[in-house]
Amino acid sequence: MTRMSRLSVLLYLACALSLPAVVAAQDADNTRESPRNVILIIGDGMDDHQITIARNYLKGAAGTLQLDAMPMRGAVQVLTIEDKVGGKPLYVADSANTASSIATGVVTSRGRISTTAGSDEPVPTIVELASAAGYRTGLVSTASVTDATPAAFASQINFRLCENPAVMHEVSYSDIPLGNCIDHLKANGGGGSIAEQLVESPLHVILGGGQKHFAPQAEGKSRSVLALAQDNGFATATSADQLQQADFNKKLLGLFAPSTLPVRMRGQNGREAESPEVSLLHQVHDYLGEVTLPEVMRCEPNPEFGNTPTLKAMTDTAIAHLSANNSRGFFLMVESASIDKASHQRRPCGSIGEVQQLEEALQSALDFSREQPNTLVIVTADHTQAAQLVPQESLYADFPIPIYTPGKIARIQTPEGSVMAVNYATNNFAMEEHTGANVPLFANEVGRDIIPPFIQQPQLFGIMTRHLGL
Ligand SMILES: [Zn+2]
Repeated sequence: MTRMSRLSVLLYLACALSLPAVVAAQDADNTRESPRNVILIIGDGMDDHQITIARNYLKGAAGTLQLDAMPMRGAVQVLTIEDKVGGKPLYVADSANTASSIATGVVTSRGRISTTAGSDEPVPTIVELASAAGYRTGLVSTASVTDATPAAFASQINFRLCENPAVMHEVSYSDIPLGNCIDHLKANGGGGSIAEQLVESPLHVILGGGQKHFAPQAEGKSRSVLALAQDNGFATATSADQLQQADFNKKLLGLFAPSTLPVRMRGQNGREAESPEVSLLHQVHDYLGEVTLPEVMRCEPNPEFGNTPTLKAMTDTAIAHLSANNSRGFFLMVESASIDKASHQRRPCGSIGEVQQLEEALQSALDFSREQPNTLVIVTADHTQAAQLVPQESLYADFPIPIYTPGKIARIQTPEGSVMAVNYATNNFAMEEHTGANVPLFANEVGRDIIPPFIQQPQLFGIMTRHLGL
């Protein structure tokens, strides 16, 4: 029923029931649809191991996280395919294809940003659809804002590492060529690099790291990507103070570090998970020898974090900016990125601090959803990660033989006085791998009524677009 026809019915009822017309008019105002919002919070790599490790450390084993109090809890099956048309399933994802699934509803291949596997066609994202329908949109991340998760919500390109115009012809790492995005150059009919696409997108708020990706010259211009953002109406911020003083009359691009924002916590003196020291006496017997596990360590504040804006501070600014004088509503994606990145680096304290940041941002989202009850709050992860919570002393320690992990292990002193061990053993390389299990899903009361307890990842797109009536 349209607002006018609802008003007509109310006026008719007011007359029929002899109510004063002024009361009927007030009622009509009260029944006007309130703004509809979606706040999607993604814990990158935040699987149940990460949540349990963080709960044990932050709240104690019998404690409760904010996540645990969410009224809806379910699981999400992650889907990934090979990079060809009709490609077979792959059972382990990356952040590019998973964020693309959530942002577009389309299953694609690893490394792709909202483009189709094999055929490289751009797919419309929820940010584009919501903006076209009059909603405001925003992205917040503790990674570079050009990193795969935020990128997939507002850009389309074949390769996630084409984050700025200087790398479109060749992306390399330690002189190893990794790929290119020549087909997506503007000169070739594409949208250009991820940074260029973000500043030319309809986004109202973009907050996170990644200054270095906005410094290169924009394709076909004599100006940097950052200058292009200012041309397109973005105010820019580079410090927590500037974030606080943001002008809500302009769009906002806040970049608070050259690349990924520093994490909040680290291992004692920067320690990571380490290999056990093993001396086997093969010459005596295959099963004789000694094992020394790494020393127990504390987590401590990361001195590099300094005045970096917290994920909560960025989320609060984004919500305030997107909701100010806005009767339609908004879509906001918030990512706690380094749960994943710290896990790649075997840094459990880094991951714990990032779950804590996600918890604080979630509190902001839930507080706002009480002010505007048509706010769907969803928390999920994109894929699972390498970290495993293992016994700090082997369950088989009583056997008179050396038993140890073939991977690396951190033994962490918890505030409640116990020792928690986190193990990483997915490879022998400098970086751990992702893993392929279901990821967790949480939602507020709005979500409890509309989200089944088990879904496939692309279904999140439909759940959010339906809530916004797209
Ligand atoms: Zn990762």
